[in-house]
Amino acid sequence: LPIINEQLKDFKEDKNLVMYCTGGIRCEKASAYFKHQGFKNVFQLEGGIINYAKQIKEEGLESKFIGKNFVFDHRLGERITDDIVSQCHQCGKPCDNHTNCLNDGCHLLFIQCDECKAAMENCCSTECLEITHLPLAEQVKLRRGKQVGNKVFRKGKSENLKFKHSGELSDKPLAVAEKTKDIRQKIKVKKVLLGKAEHYYVKAQVGLFVIENQELNVGDSILISGPTTGNQELVLEKMFVNGTESSSAKVGDKVTFEVPFRVRLSDKLFKIIS
Ligand SMILES: [Zn+2]
Ligand SMILES: [Zn+2]
Repeated sequence: LPIINEQLKDFKEDKNLVMYCTGGIRCEKASAYFKHQGFKNVFQLEGGIINYAKQIKEEGLESKFIGKNFVFDHRLGERITDDIVSQCHQCGKPCDNHTNCLNDGCHLLFIQCDECKAAMENCCSTECLEITHLPLAEQVKLRRGKQVGNKVFRKGKSENLKFKHSGELSDKPLAVAEKTKDIRQKIKVKKVLLGKAEHYYVKAQVGLFVIENQELNVGDSILISGPTTGNQELVLEKMFVNGTESSSAKVGDKVTFEVPFRVRLSDKLFKIIS
């Protein structure tokens, strides 16, 4: 923060300072700091990328954030879009899987593809690889006296990592992630929320939905989404609106149609636009 404060010291009154972080807490602190330093126009993304991703998903908007969002838990990253904007730090292949070097005396955080992970046994360098092959007692002896601590979030400043370019990342995706089976992660689909499920008639395989927004028409591609149901897409072929077969339903209508899978109470009904 002091570096930015210094770099922008002549623009404190007239430039907009916009910040974002993972969950919004660091920005909360950073914006307090910048305001205290005299910046007049300080903005931050409320709730961070996590909340942003949630909101665009709910509203079916296109994500302006591409790729993976680094998170500070065991996942080390949450996929926001299918774009891959970084490279494996060892072979340069498009990849965005963070990992920590397996050598406990190193624990460097870096990006490693599956092939390199297999070849290097999850290590950042041949040195670390050799160390992990030593007996445990030997490894502890090597670490003694070295100030390593928990370097989970130590940035990959290692000469062994050829493809690590700090601060000069491309803003264009390098590749597209393979589609995961769980399309819950796929949020590039443009969709509008129409309403929610009220009931599922198990024997008849019919779902009852209430339309709360826009309208639903026969022929629409729809998405039914919920924590247990997942994301299920189908094309609406026939429906009953308030008990009568109809080709169109509007706000307030109760709609029933055949759904070949179980729908849960409060599952959301979306219309897919593209
Ligand atoms: Zn690689
Ligand atoms: Zn290492």
